[in-house]
Amino acid sequence: MTFPPPTESGPLRGGPHGIGVLGGTFDPVHIGHLVAAVEVRHALGLDQMLLMLAGQPWQKVGSRRVTPAADRLAVLEAALREAQGLEPSTLEIDRGGASYTADTLAELRERWPQAGLHVVVGADVAAELGTWVRVEEVKAMAELVVVGRPGAAAPLEQLAEEGWRVTPVSIPPIGISSSEVRARVAAGRPIDYLVPAAAIHEIAKRGLYAARR
Ligand code: ATP
Ligand code: MG
Repeated sequence: MTFPPPTESGPLRGGPHGIGVLGGTFDPVHIGHLVAAVEVRHALGLDQMLLMLAGQPWQKVGSRRVTPAADRLAVLEAALREAQGLEPSTLEIDRGGASYTADTLAELRERWPQAGLHVVVGADVAAELGTWVRVEEVKAMAELVVVGRPGAAAPLEQLAEEGWRVTPVSIPPIGISSSEVRARVAAGRPIDYLVPAAAIHEIAKRGLYAARR
């Protein structure tokens, strides 16, 4: 994270007021993530949107091979090089161990006590929040922002009943997933415009997702 410290002058004088956190495995990042990040930042007027790379996505480990964090980060950094207000964050990688949003929010709050924290999830993840570790802490520390995702229905009323402060943000429906991107690369099909060009370059350079011979 490269926010200026609160004492510095500049556009974020006093520190950021609103921070969005879009957590993901980003294996790899694609336009679904990026459009969601941009739209939520704009809709809520957030200073900064962090794309929080999960070090060890504990819900995914074991079910499939997750690409090493260093590769996923390099591709994410390439994708965000020109992006305004979107920033890759290595907070969870740096912390090591399993990635829990509750710990991440506590760290952000310690660093920027004045900033409102907004956890951003797609509708598919919104339906699974009950499986998160220490979810009550997340609920207390952050507002929840839910973006639509084709094929998933966001249980907004239920979330509100469960005590979440929840804001839906509508985005152009984008029916793409990292799984689909990986399958395309493995099959030799194009991923142009589904993934930013600089990120495609990084994927190719590192030989990621190609079918093994
Ligand atoms: P995978 O297929 O490997 O699960 P993914 O595309 O779901 O990858 P994740 O890194 O698992 O990507 O998702 C991170 C966050 O981004 C989640 O909250 C997810 O709901 C959201 N997200 C991912 N793709 C989209 C999309 N196309 N539209 C809206 N939200 C999305
Ligand atoms: Mg997913």
